[in-house]
Amino acid sequence: MNDKTTKSEDEWKAQLGEDAYRVCRRGGTEPAFTGALLDNKATGTYLCASCGAELFSSTAKYDSGCGWPSFSQAIDAGHVMERLDHTHGMTRREILCSRCDGHLGHVFPDGPGPTGLRYCTNSLSLEFAPDKDSGD
Ligand code: FE
Repeated sequence: MNDKTTKSEDEWKAQLGEDAYRVCRRGGTEPAFTGALLDNKATGTYLCASCGAELFSSTAKYDSGCGWPSFSQAIDAGHVMERLDHTHGMTRREILCSRCDGHLGHVFPDGPGPTGLRYCTNSLSLEFAPDKDSGD
């Protein structure tokens, strides 16, 4: 994705508010089973809460039971990037928005077919845009 979005920490804090700032810009994690989008079943697109980039389609969302919004794939491989995260005594694959480097969550190899992946995200990292003709 071109046109990287960059803002100062103060600008992100003002835009996102304290809770989303902690998740999106500081790599935090919202408590399991608390996110506003966890049980969202509506048809539409999940956008980056920081910059509005399209990240996941509702067609890839599934109920993983893990307590966070889960997707089997990104809407476009170029929109979600990965990097190794060695915090908390684990090695995990962190997922971030390619446009603004916003923290989304982690991706785990225990998802459904065809990818076998679980993109485990924070509701606070995402904004949901319902399809206009979905009737939701
Ligand atoms: Fe972003």
